[in-house]
Amino acid sequence: MSRIVCKFGGSSLADANQFRRVLAIVESDPRRSIVVPSAPGKRSSTDAKLTDLLYLCQQSATLGTDFTSPYAQVRERFLEIERDLGIDAGMAGHLTALEAALREGVTKDFVASRGEYLNGLLLAAYLGAEFVDPEHFIIIAPNGSVDPETYVMLAGRLANAEKRYVVPGFYGRDTKGRVRTFSRGGSDISGAIVARAVMAELYENWTDVSGLLMADPRIVKDPKPMQEVTYAEIRELSYMGASVLHDEAILPVREVGIPINIRNTNAPEHDGTRIVSALSPHVEQTTEIAGIAGKKNFAMISVEKNLMNKEVGFIYRLLGILERHAVSFEHCPSSIDSMSVIIDATDIEDKIEDVLAEIRETLHPDSLDYVPAIALIAIVGEGMSKTIGIAAKVFIALRDAQVNVRIINQGASELNIIVGVVPDEYERALAALYNAFVTPVPVDSATSRASRAPSA
Ligand code: ASP
Repeated sequence: MSRIVCKFGGSSLADANQFRRVLAIVESDPRRSIVVPSAPGKRSSTDAKLTDLLYLCQQSATLGTDFTSPYAQVRERFLEIERDLGIDAGMAGHLTALEAALREGVTKDFVASRGEYLNGLLLAAYLGAEFVDPEHFIIIAPNGSVDPETYVMLAGRLANAEKRYVVPGFYGRDTKGRVRTFSRGGSDISGAIVARAVMAELYENWTDVSGLLMADPRIVKDPKPMQEVTYAEIRELSYMGASVLHDEAILPVREVGIPINIRNTNAPEHDGTRIVSALSPHVEQTTEIAGIAGKKNFAMISVEKNLMNKEVGFIYRLLGILERHAVSFEHCPSSIDSMSVIIDATDIEDKIEDVLAEIRETLHPDSLDYVPAIALIAIVGEGMSKTIGIAAKVFIALRDAQVNVRIINQGASELNIIVGVVPDEYERALAALYNAFVTPVPVDSATSRASRAPSA
């Protein structure tokens, strides 16, 4: 039987009621045989995330200060879920052991991983599933990537397609055998790794929103949900901050073409968003683009020098200065005698004076300008390269909204058009762009994204 790996995020497992929803979802499709849980998340906006409480306990324990209060909250959350579900997963014993371990001294990663570990034990007991501890099957290399041996070990451990398994998210072990976590939000990565290991038909990522939206709902009223989006498009959009999925969760499944489906635990009737390698022609396309996303926190260094194009190695030296100051650059628009580098503003803030001084000394520019705040907006869509009029639509919309465009950038893949505007005009620009592309009239098949997208 083909299998679906379902990862449930923290809010989907925040209390016993959410566990009941998860059970109903898992039971409604026999293919949902492998479940990857996060630690319990917030029950309300003022609540604490279990993982945050665990980090707090470990920090206090290391400093030798009292951690009774945050630990009591950890304890009560797990005991309450166990009690409310009417199951016995041995939580009291596990929690007493963890408290003792904290007093003796354990690593930050070990303590943080216990949120997923204990929640996994609870969920396995509740779903009647076999608990598989990723500490023995997921190996995380020193650079944070997954060791390929993981796939072989997991595939062997999860081989029985008739069984139901629970594999906690967020952690594995390092090459020396110590428990190690991924970066925050890393259960998404675990889910992708498990899906890849068993070559699942689908990786379902259950969260608390009904998929991805075409624009930020804080700026655009009721933006349309995306039905389908490609891995490449999502990469561009999430880089600009529009994602509900961890960045590193795409790669393991993308490499083998397993689709991801973002779904809402609180609205399971909604199909959510599918992330795929190539758009399917049967999905109704109502717009020419996948979505619009943007971020405000960029800075820009602009250098002008007459005959810059004749000076061999000019860009190399400029970027070398940034490298020496450990600043990575995001974009690099240029003209014949000038170029700009766009940088994440937080990366450069306290280094800017040194960087500018070195540019002056090394490159002797005719002029050097620093813009501390610039907003970038990306209009993203497969097959843009083959469509006439996308850029025209972008710039007409911005002109009509009286937005001044400071930067224009389009990558070689022609997957997006990026415009830079002053932060004060960001919201107006984004809303104008959304309105220009999202019309209530369905586009005909000749202009849909699917008909133009290259097959992956
Ligand atoms: N519990 C971890 C965190 O809060 C991992 C996850 O939820 O994906 O970051």
